[in-house]
Amino acid sequence: MDNFQALLSSSSPEAAAEQFINKILEVNPGISTDLIHSAFLFSWDAHKDQVRKSGEPYLAHPVSVAMILAEQKLDSVTIAAGLLHDVLEDTPCTQEDLAKRFGEDVALLVDGVTKIRAIQMKTREDRQAETYRKMLLSMAKDLRVIIIKFADRIHNLRTLKYLDPEKIRAIATETLDVYSPLAMRLGMGRIKWELDDLAFKHLYPSDYKDIVSKVVASHTDREAILEAFEGPLRTALEQEGINATTAGRPKHFYSIYNKMLKRGKPFDEIYDILALRIIVNSVKECYHALGVIHGLWMPVQERFKDYISAPKSNGYRSIHTTVVGKQGSVIEMQIRTWEMNKTAEEGIAAHWLYKDGGLADEISKDDKALGWLKNIIGWQENLTDSAEFYEFFRVDLFDAEIFVFTPQGSLITLPKGSTVLDFAFAVHTKLGTHCIGAKVDGHVEPVGAELKSGQSVEVLTLNTKTPSVSMLRYAKTPKARSAIRQWLNNAEKQNSVDLGKKMILHAYEELNTNTPFDNHVPELLQHLGIGNVERLYELIGRGDLPESRVMKYFQARKIKKKAAPFEMVSQFMKTITGQKSPQGILVGSQDNLMVRYAECCNPIPGDQIIGFLTKGRGISVHRADCPNVKLFEDDDDRAIEVNWDSGELKKHYVTLNIRGDDRCGLLNEITAIFMDFGVNITNGTVKSLNRKADLTFHLEIRNLNQLKQILRRIQKIKEVENVARVKDYISDDDEENPE
Ligand code: MN
Repeated sequence: MDNFQALLSSSSPEAAAEQFINKILEVNPGISTDLIHSAFLFSWDAHKDQVRKSGEPYLAHPVSVAMILAEQKLDSVTIAAGLLHDVLEDTPCTQEDLAKRFGEDVALLVDGVTKIRAIQMKTREDRQAETYRKMLLSMAKDLRVIIIKFADRIHNLRTLKYLDPEKIRAIATETLDVYSPLAMRLGMGRIKWELDDLAFKHLYPSDYKDIVSKVVASHTDREAILEAFEGPLRTALEQEGINATTAGRPKHFYSIYNKMLKRGKPFDEIYDILALRIIVNSVKECYHALGVIHGLWMPVQERFKDYISAPKSNGYRSIHTTVVGKQGSVIEMQIRTWEMNKTAEEGIAAHWLYKDGGLADEISKDDKALGWLKNIIGWQENLTDSAEFYEFFRVDLFDAEIFVFTPQGSLITLPKGSTVLDFAFAVHTKLGTHCIGAKVDGHVEPVGAELKSGQSVEVLTLNTKTPSVSMLRYAKTPKARSAIRQWLNNAEKQNSVDLGKKMILHAYEELNTNTPFDNHVPELLQHLGIGNVERLYELIGRGDLPESRVMKYFQARKIKKKAAPFEMVSQFMKTITGQKSPQGILVGSQDNLMVRYAECCNPIPGDQIIGFLTKGRGISVHRADCPNVKLFEDDDDRAIEVNWDSGELKKHYVTLNIRGDDRCGLLNEITAIFMDFGVNITNGTVKSLNRKADLTFHLEIRNLNQLKQILRRIQKIKEVENVARVKDYISDDDEENPE
């Protein structure tokens, strides 16, 4: 690793920048350096007073990150962003400042790295790790953000020892679960191995030391064995006219460790620690070389893999064959072209498309993303610093999704635009049903608040809160919408059942029989062809089955209606009206005239009233606002002024119509009010349609004042939308017609 000691202790930022640029040019000659130069100076200034936990100047970190990026042959924009990747987090500098100085691209990359840092994976679960990797890609917007993050992580892992052990474990674990598989997915072999081995070192220090020492101890042996294979192979390849480069390499420590765990074998028995790489110029030569190798040594059949004809999902291509040497030593040969070698070590993003878990499946659905990936695949041919090449790095694969956390750290994937309510239903139907809002990153938000990737969401519930139709507008996901609909349907069904039961029992009570309703149920259901009594109630409650059909059934069984109290009274009234003056009305000052109350509007004491002279039946008294009054208003000479006598001895009749949202207990609540006032209900009808209640009551009222009090009480009921005195319920009463 490069040492920046001299550079960092330089007193002049200009001189330090000069040194740094020279180092960059060493690994990447020809790269344009203006942007890197000014980014270096800016970073120097921004971090000049900061010190790392190790005691080093903070600048050592961004400079190292930028250097790792340069070694990966990344462009000047990415290297500049690497130098600046911590300035948004640690200094007063803003994204706009960066955009102005270094351009949108640099600003967006730095912003992307800053956003990703705010999020830490909290659970160790494979499926979650996969979602987490997706989230990183989605938040990054540009793959270079992820690559800077890799470099950042590598440098942090290299210098991790200064942090507390708990933190070290968390970072190392996250590296193995998230970053290293992501690097693998992106085809960046070299980065993956370094992340693996660094994390391994921190996570299992003694196992790491053990393996390193064994690898070192077997070094001399290994060299000897390698040479025993490499020498004869070189000669044979030359004889065949194949121009090949061979290189032995130790397996990476973490991969040795994984193999030992997987196969349950000790170090010595992990036989493929030895590997020889043979790099040739063409695919044809790969197979030619394979033939040469198999001519020299015996292959282990089950260890042969042709990743050239069937590349790995991340684009890796090579032929692997394991052969047995003279002394029984075993070696894995990896045959590949130069291009394949480059792809294996550096190949960004490349070919992760083809399978490997859910990610690729989702990508392959999206043609646009496919096009983007095809462009990437062409990359290896022409690695330049050109801007249009880096256009291909833009990630818009997961724009349709957001990723949010539960308080326990589980990741929930939702479509973009999803709300708190969607989140609640995604976690659990019960949470959604009672959801009243959520704490989003600690702030209380309403159910309709739109969520963003990376937020942590704690759903707030209230057991008495239940879904309503209006909540549908906050639910964007099919899951939430169907859950709400289902809940509403169930609730509506229950309401219908309750209402239908009330209606039918009420009607049944009016029949002149002592048999309980239940005794009729089996036969009634059969008669109507309905499966169960709940369903019967529901159909009646919904208005799908007219109450009258049920009543006809009883009529057919000769069960007749009792005379309703209201009817009895009104019949009685009919017999007495016209014969005897009801008490309570003064015509002029006389109280013994033939006066009767008009049945069309049933005035009660306190109402504005007007009298009309009828033929032979005395004076009929109407409410002043009765529609019938208008019919003979013009007949001035028949109108008679009448007034209430203060005696108020008589009962008066009023019809009230109440409409509103139906719910259980509404009827009870209203009738309880009538009872409070000692008002008798002489008749009533109850209808419900589409969860709207339509209730009509005939009441015996003492006077207008009492009626007003009752109306006020009813209006206070939340569900009641309208309560009105019915004025024209006998508008066709021709008795009132003066003709
Ligand atoms: Mn950093």
